[in-house]
Amino acid sequence: MALRDIEKKRLMLYDFAMKQLESDELCSDKDRENIEELSDEFRIGKCEMRIFNNGRDEQSKQGRVLRFYDSGIADGRSRIRREVTEDGSLNAIYTYQKAGEPEWNEEEQLLIDEFNRLFFLNKIRIRMRRLLSDATFKDASTGMPNIRYATRNMAMLINQGRISEYAAILFNIRGMNDINSQVGQDMGTSIMVRYANMLGECLRRDELETIVRIGGDNFFIICKKDRVSHIAELLEGVIIPYGKSAGDRIVVSACAGIYMIGGDVKAVHEIMNAVSSTCNIAHFVYKVPVLYYDEKLIQLMHKARRVESDFENAVQDNEFHVFYQPKVSLKDYRLVGAEALCRWIKDDNVISPASFIPVLEKSKRICSLDFYMLENVCRDIRRWIDDGIKAVPVSVNFSRRHLNNADIVKDIIDVIDQYNVPHDLIEIEVTETSTESDFMQLKRMVVGLKEQGISTAVDDFGTGYSSLSMIKNLPFKVLKIDKSFLSKENANFKYDNIMMKHVIGMATELDMECIAEGVETMDNVKLLMNNKCYLAQGYLFDKPLIKMEFEKRMITSVYSI
Ligand code: C2E
Ligand code: MG
Ligand code: MG
Repeated sequence: MALRDIEKKRLMLYDFAMKQLESDELCSDKDRENIEELSDEFRIGKCEMRIFNNGRDEQSKQGRVLRFYDSGIADGRSRIRREVTEDGSLNAIYTYQKAGEPEWNEEEQLLIDEFNRLFFLNKIRIRMRRLLSDATFKDASTGMPNIRYATRNMAMLINQGRISEYAAILFNIRGMNDINSQVGQDMGTSIMVRYANMLGECLRRDELETIVRIGGDNFFIICKKDRVSHIAELLEGVIIPYGKSAGDRIVVSACAGIYMIGGDVKAVHEIMNAVSSTCNIAHFVYKVPVLYYDEKLIQLMHKARRVESDFENAVQDNEFHVFYQPKVSLKDYRLVGAEALCRWIKDDNVISPASFIPVLEKSKRICSLDFYMLENVCRDIRRWIDDGIKAVPVSVNFSRRHLNNADIVKDIIDVIDQYNVPHDLIEIEVTETSTESDFMQLKRMVVGLKEQGISTAVDDFGTGYSSLSMIKNLPFKVLKIDKSFLSKENANFKYDNIMMKHVIGMATELDMECIAEGVETMDNVKLLMNNKCYLAQGYLFDKPLIKMEFEKRMITSVYSI
């Protein structure tokens, strides 16, 4: 063999090795071309590789066969066969067969061996990198990309200053448990993946748009802002067929938080925080399929979380205080009663109930607060009586949350009796109810309290539902007309008058006492007097007062307006 030939082959091999190093594919068309050329030169008829994905493959030497070249003229006998092992484990076996032409000389065999090593080691490197990348960036059970993948893309977009062109969407599938129980766990998973893939089809990979599985039925999408409206439509619900019969269809929808990423975002975690808070609010607060990020919403949620987490300590540290708002007779402007209203005083700041009552009402915490208020009111009344102050009846607000407490009447009476407070000095205010079962429970409570000589009031009358049937069928003593019935503008005087006339007329006919809240002006007073409502509560007389101020009012007893 002429030296020139060997030199030429060596150079070809070098050239091939260089191209191989650039290659990032297991077997590209370019690879095949190069191998063809080299094989021709080296008189190779066939070359293949057997790779092993796991120990079992390796033991049985089965593995997956990758054929890189087959001229169809291999002589059938393995001429060169090598095993590639790394760290003691077998990774691959490669085989070269001759093309039926003259034998390879020693130097050629050495070069072919080098070729083998270069080629196969590079393939193994690519394969290992893929396995590693899959383990890092793919969800093991569905094969979809995972959150690390999206995180890497987002970090890239932030670095390139392009992140504000994108939106982030976090969603979970609504009623996944119901879907599973309807079609079975396996089919449920397959429906979930099909739904996610359907969303994935709207995305452009070349724009780094992607959908990833976070885990369970939670997914995350990063896409350009112009895609969002289309994706939001699919999140609202799509029909997915899953079986052979026409009826095997199921509506799959999501609960999603969408964040149109702002230009000031500097880190991926800011995006994840915004989108996961929005998704939580969509899920737990509004129960809507799609909710867009809004800074104010997030603040509200953080506030609510703080209220919940601070509550127990606040009770222990006596941060909740009873304020008393006088109730006044319009016949002689005498103070005739009060409503106990809660204030949370923390670090000298007075927090109004609007910021914490609705949060506490989401859980049983409101019940502890109401009993705390009742107990404090009873303690105050006891002291007034003991100090010789002529105590007036005080009403305490009780949330609807108490309605499923079967012992509510007993629990209330126990507190009142513990302080030996005359039952006619306590009144319980409840708001209207909407459901039939609430109504039955409420009836039990109102009737039970009445039997014990405790009167009840319908609070905020006119703002809720089923008002009429409720007051007709339950023995409430007092009807508190909501402040919205007293408008601040005189233009509405005629309309207010008509409303008042009917509400008060009805209450009187039902033998109920009527009191108006939110009385702020003399016009309001006139309106009430015209309609024969003689009890009022409102800023015209007093705002809710701290105990000491209220005690002074009880002693003076008469207002001069
Ligand atoms: P509510 O029971 O209807 O109480 C009347 C609300 O109207 C009070 O608001 C009172 O300060 C306000 N108000 C009184 N006079 C006027 C007026 O002339 N003009 C205007 N614009 N407002 C007036 P507050 O104290 O902020 O309480 C709001 C609501 O929070 C209460 O409405 C009640 O539903 C709830 N709440 C307060 N304390 C408690 C409590 O201890 N337990 C429960 N369950 N709810 C409470
Ligand atoms: Mg009230
Ligand atoms: Mg009210």
